[in-house]
Amino acid sequence: MALEPSNSDLPSHGLYINGAWRDAEGERTFTVTEPATGAALARVASASRADVDQAVAAARAAFDHGPWPHTPYYERAKILQQLAKLLEERAPELAELESRDGGVPLRATTFNDIPLGLHMLHTFGELARRSPYEPLPWTDFPTLAWSFVWRQPYGVCAQIIPWNFAFCMAIWKLGPALATGNTVIFKPSSLAPLTSIALVKMIDESGLLPRGVVNLVTGPGGETGEYLVSHPNVDKVAFTGSTEVGRKIMSIAAPHLKKVTLELGGKSPSILLPDADLDKAVDGALFGMFYHAGQLCEAGTRCFVPASLYDEVIERMVARTRQFRVGDPLDLATDIGPLISFKQRDSVERYIQLGRAEGAQLALGGARPSGPLYDQGSYLEPTIFTHVNNTSRLAQEEIFGPVFAVIRYDDIGEAITLANDSRYGLAGSIWSQDYQLALEVARRLRTGTVWINDHHVLNPYAPFGGFKESGTGREMGVAGLLEYTQATHIHVDFQQNRAGKLWWDALLPPVDDEG
Ligand code: NAD
Repeated sequence: MALEPSNSDLPSHGLYINGAWRDAEGERTFTVTEPATGAALARVASASRADVDQAVAAARAAFDHGPWPHTPYYERAKILQQLAKLLEERAPELAELESRDGGVPLRATTFNDIPLGLHMLHTFGELARRSPYEPLPWTDFPTLAWSFVWRQPYGVCAQIIPWNFAFCMAIWKLGPALATGNTVIFKPSSLAPLTSIALVKMIDESGLLPRGVVNLVTGPGGETGEYLVSHPNVDKVAFTGSTEVGRKIMSIAAPHLKKVTLELGGKSPSILLPDADLDKAVDGALFGMFYHAGQLCEAGTRCFVPASLYDEVIERMVARTRQFRVGDPLDLATDIGPLISFKQRDSVERYIQLGRAEGAQLALGGARPSGPLYDQGSYLEPTIFTHVNNTSRLAQEEIFGPVFAVIRYDDIGEAITLANDSRYGLAGSIWSQDYQLALEVARRLRTGTVWINDHHVLNPYAPFGGFKESGTGREMGVAGLLEYTQATHIHVDFQQNRAGKLWWDALLPPVDDEG
């Protein structure tokens, strides 16, 4: 991403502030490139501090003086569902854009990522409708009273997302915030901002939201993003990205005691139990690892395999992975596309060298595929390391690329200990035909999500988030929606006479009458 003046024929996208599109201050832009070809795709406005100030002011005014926070929950739910229907009509366009922008195979964006995002948007509206009031028990201490919790929107939310899974990330930020009546300043990653921009354009065209409720700023994380999260008029920060940046954001938000939710990195286990059906478990573990070329926070990058099955499982994994087609993301036959950038590929390659140096055995891959198709893009072969030590950096650090660490265990207790021996705790999967055993293991994993005989299934009804350094707070489900609200306890007294309020005697002088 390079800052440069906006002077080309590429599609160009501005900032969306207070219901209008405009250039960034000084007409600063950056170029977004296609990971598969390195070709420029679009120029995008790069917001200055003054631009961020205006976006925050618009969101603040829309929250403090606009109708949105006070719009009934059912109305907001209806609007989100109308929006989801409009987006559905544009799903093929969004799928292609996501594939070009993020290098994600069109098969994945068409059949999973975009439909999943739209399903989430429908669901957030529905969930929000169910949860604004929480009844409390009647009480007679100190007087007869009825109470309930009213959920108010949190306020002005800064929302920052990464480049991976970008469309779904945008929906799972905007959906819950809007469903609960917040206003938003939203910043996508500079590496893959185009479906987020398309989404905001569709919101704008729909005319469904009041001015200033959604604002879009684009620009470098270290400048635009950091200034946004530090802004005193922002009430809540919702961040998805790396643990390193998440840590920084938490410290930046501390002086104003902003509410912060963080969805961060992972190094999730995929545990094959001794009774696993290997036909399904091997494919499932490979899906957990290589979907989106391993560039998913919840990817099952550490696979634990019983010693008794180890050689057979490796043989099957290698044979099956050889069948993957690495290629052009726009080709429906492609299984694995390029990595998001050359920089990302360099970083992943450094881990491959490290794995070798640490003594792990390279069973497959480890190199760039060769041939004219691959020359211009950031492609890398799916890579499998065996005999990996769980304490090695290969097994402990998030690589965010197609590098699988397969680790041997002797008994299930050891598998659980090794799986939990990580600074992360985002997700995990268990492969077994014995559901009782699988459930026992699931309940011992220190992670936010456990799938039994599946992986990557993101359910908008279920909370998603991390233990340990994988984050704090939850997104999705009722728990995720509540993160965008503050609880107000409303107490309604039913003891409508002075005598019934004996506890007032603790302060007030006695009275003679019953008034
Ligand atoms: P990143 O942390 O580099 O960037 C994420 C976002 O933060 C981008 O929009 C970036 O511009 C912005 N940013 C960067 N520095 C900032 C700063 N100092 N202040 C404010 N904003 C800043 O992450 P990435 O490389 O874009 O994404 C990959 C990471 O995201 C991986 O670690 C992955 O595990 C994580 N991730 C987590 C989840 C989850 O739900 N837990 C989901 C997807 C991705």
